[in-house]
Amino acid sequence: MKRLQGIGVSPGVAIGPAYLLLTGNVKISRRILTPSQVEKEIDRLHRALATTIKDLEEVKRHIPPEMVQPLSIIDAHILMLKDPSLIRDTEQFIRRHYVNAEWALRKVLKKYQRVFDSLKDFYLRERIHDLEHLIERVILALQGQNESVEIEEPAIVIAHDLSPADTARLKPDTTQAFVTEVGSRTSHTAIVARSLGIPAVVAVKGVTEEISPGDLVIVDGLSGEVIVNPSQEVIEEFIDRRLECQLQRERFLDLAKEPAVTLDGRRVFVRANLELLDEIPMALEFGAEGVGLFRTEYLYVTKEGLPSEEELFINYRQVIEGIRPNIVTFRTLDIGGDKFAKELNLPAEINPALGLRAIRLCLKNIELFRTQLRAILRASVYGKIRIMFPLISGLNELLEAKKVLFEVLDELSQEGLEVDVPECGAMIEVPTAAAIADILAKEVDFFSIGTNDLIQYALAIDRGNEQVAHLYEPLHPGILRIIKHVAEAAKKTGIKVAMCGEMAGEPLCVPLLVGMGFDELSMNPQTIPIIKNIIRQISYEDCQKLAKEILSLSCAKEIRSYLEYWFQQKDLAF
Ligand code: PEP
Ligand code: MG
Repeated sequence: MKRLQGIGVSPGVAIGPAYLLLTGNVKISRRILTPSQVEKEIDRLHRALATTIKDLEEVKRHIPPEMVQPLSIIDAHILMLKDPSLIRDTEQFIRRHYVNAEWALRKVLKKYQRVFDSLKDFYLRERIHDLEHLIERVILALQGQNESVEIEEPAIVIAHDLSPADTARLKPDTTQAFVTEVGSRTSHTAIVARSLGIPAVVAVKGVTEEISPGDLVIVDGLSGEVIVNPSQEVIEEFIDRRLECQLQRERFLDLAKEPAVTLDGRRVFVRANLELLDEIPMALEFGAEGVGLFRTEYLYVTKEGLPSEEELFINYRQVIEGIRPNIVTFRTLDIGGDKFAKELNLPAEINPALGLRAIRLCLKNIELFRTQLRAILRASVYGKIRIMFPLISGLNELLEAKKVLFEVLDELSQEGLEVDVPECGAMIEVPTAAAIADILAKEVDFFSIGTNDLIQYALAIDRGNEQVAHLYEPLHPGILRIIKHVAEAAKKTGIKVAMCGEMAGEPLCVPLLVGMGFDELSMNPQTIPIIKNIIRQISYEDCQKLAKEILSLSCAKEIRSYLEYWFQQKDLAF
């Protein structure tokens, strides 16, 4: 018996024989063309692109229409294959270097990999894997190979990697689960697996070598455990776990749609952090009571040139209508620094995290800001929205941002469009904003604490630097004091206080945040049922006491142990 560990990305327990699927990069070689062969090669490229698109259309036909997410992922892939810049870059590479299409595609992919690698946003960085999968498909098509997978008997699929389209093709009646060597929680492959209800574990190092065809395998898609050739005792334990898992999932998802109210009647709104339209169905399924953070950068980074007001409007309207009757909190543009400099022609910065980003960039480039605000406000008539400004560091910055907002409202009204004044908030991410929270609170309807940045700036830890990642500590007493100070300032002024950084979705932190008086917690959709479940098992009164005790402790380690002990005492599981 062997135990392997990966990341559980789609819950469920499965037991079955292993089916090894050989995937991974196809071996290709460079062929040098004569000038007269170049245009033929470009034709060959176009034919392979067309075959791949047809192939994906075929995959789509097998996905039931109610599976909105897998369908929209495949649609997005088709669009990527039609992307003029991808096609142009590949054609240019073939023309300039006189090489075969396979070689050119891999080279162009490398260029895109470098661009995506430099992105700060993890979710966006992850999207390169979609392009990698697609380019492999086109290469297979160039070589006249077909990638389709036919599994006849129920089995557990073991592969180096699976593309979202491969995953969409797996039939839940024969694919009991899948395990891959690479991948992450936010990959589209994981999203498709969750939609299809196929248990899945990714990032299991060396799994294709550790498992042989026909080995009996147990997969736990929640804990990420993979057990090879288990003993009878372990098999029985997992059969029980599988049943419990099914029941738990049903209970969780039913309950997830109910509000989260503490035992003594305090309601805490649990909302979703979203970035893409195709995340909306998942947010609704997991019981999001609206969107606490809509990151608006996506359209600015995935397109050549800046998006137009109309494009933004259409996108925002779809989000608002998808979430209606609940509220969508639009965070205005948070780009700049090392991110997307190409579009905005920004000079390179030595220290981008401290550079021209977010509200600073918008206030320097008012037209960019106005265009976005116009689109949000025009879309706002289709549902309920709030607006919040990122990276506010002082009063004047906030007032300036509000001034632009009111000018845009005025402008729209002169154009005959009466738009209600939306609630307006400040993200608290910079320590100085936290320090003057009492002053800022008079100017806004709510605060939303962005702990990802707040912790980075307060602890002087670059949030993307692995060398210092171990020092990134939400439970640092200094961080907790800052958070408490902000929550208190909000309460005293009578405005709402929310948190939308990762800390809001950390189960261990939830009683503490409830105790500090947070009205709203916003997080990635999958975490919502877990957090709601915790809130329902605790009392506000106990949490207030807990917060007081925790704030008297002097180091993160002590705080963590205390919280763990508190959870144990209350028999709280998550
Ligand atoms: C944050 O900083 O906590 C936040 C929510 O914003 P982002 O992660 O997008 O910077
Ligand atoms: Mg931030």
